[in-house]
Amino acid sequence: TSLALDIQNLTVEFHTMDDVVHAVNGLDLSIKKGQTLGLVGETGAGKTTTALSVLRLLAKPAGRIISGSILLDGEDILNKTEQEMGKIRGQQVSMIFQDPMTSLNPVRTVEEQIAEVIQHHKKLDKKASLAEARKMLETVGIPGERGEEYPHQFSGGMKQRVVIAMALACSPQLLIADEPTTALDVTIQAQVLEMMRGLKKQYNMSMLMITHDLGIVAETCDEVAIIYAGQVVERGTLEDIFLHTRHPYTKGLFDSLPNLEDRKARLKPIPGLMPDPAHLPEGCPFAPRCAYATEQCQKEKPCRTYRTADHYVECHLYNEQNIQEQRLVNEA
Ligand code: SF4
Repeated sequence: TSLALDIQNLTVEFHTMDDVVHAVNGLDLSIKKGQTLGLVGETGAGKTTTALSVLRLLAKPAGRIISGSILLDGEDILNKTEQEMGKIRGQQVSMIFQDPMTSLNPVRTVEEQIAEVIQHHKKLDKKASLAEARKMLETVGIPGERGEEYPHQFSGGMKQRVVIAMALACSPQLLIADEPTTALDVTIQAQVLEMMRGLKKQYNMSMLMITHDLGIVAETCDEVAIIYAGQVVERGTLEDIFLHTRHPYTKGLFDSLPNLEDRKARLKPIPGLMPDPAHLPEGCPFAPRCAYATEQCQKEKPCRTYRTADHYVECHLYNEQNIQEQRLVNEA
């Protein structure tokens, strides 16, 4: 297969005391081998739930995958046993979280923590694992001997480098990075991203870059999927999304960017809030916030329209019949 990851029709629900939260709703997402896909959307759109589904790490019993398939390099991980998943995590797919401290143990040295991952997956003895761990630290730009230190002796950017070293220790085919630089200041952010780009090439990995930052997308991604209310509403190459933006929500994301020339320009937020995932609207999920919404949008879910083989959008505005009607109106 040429796909590192192929998610089809994924639906994930969370059961709370009185509601069912529809976190992910029929989501399709694929990543070609060696490419980076940006998954972009607001907080609560289902980005992290999607990532945790790929690792089969949804909080149980509240979070449940209701339907769909998730193929990692052609194999459906939804059929794997917990034991098999233990091997897959780290070796085939690993994840970097926003806050490095979620992955680091404060009372163990940094090299011990990396060595543990190596020992678990590569079946090396302790000494060899520690030596590997130091090599990994050097790969991410940290002198090997600093491996004897504890996480609190490192700065935020260094801690995130340690986490990246840990994630890469077993050369996974797919790296999922969930807002990996959000907690860092801008200069450090740029360094970490630059390093990740280099490592991706060096390890010939595929990457799922989860972010709400279109600047990061522009710098790191080959393809982009825009997620809204647990669905991909637009998907294309970096160029498609940046130069041929179609979906009103994607346009809203671009409009909300501060103007780069005029730093004083205010960020223009998209008015309104994402629909409550326990009570999704019947038609287009963006309808309550969309300036173009029609009666049809309130009632019917838009289907997928392709602009090119790579670029599609789910919006009634691009429905062939509506385009024809619009032309007639314009001509009249
Ligand atoms: Fe707006 Fe309608 Fe398109 Fe949804 S389908 S984004 S409501 S125009």
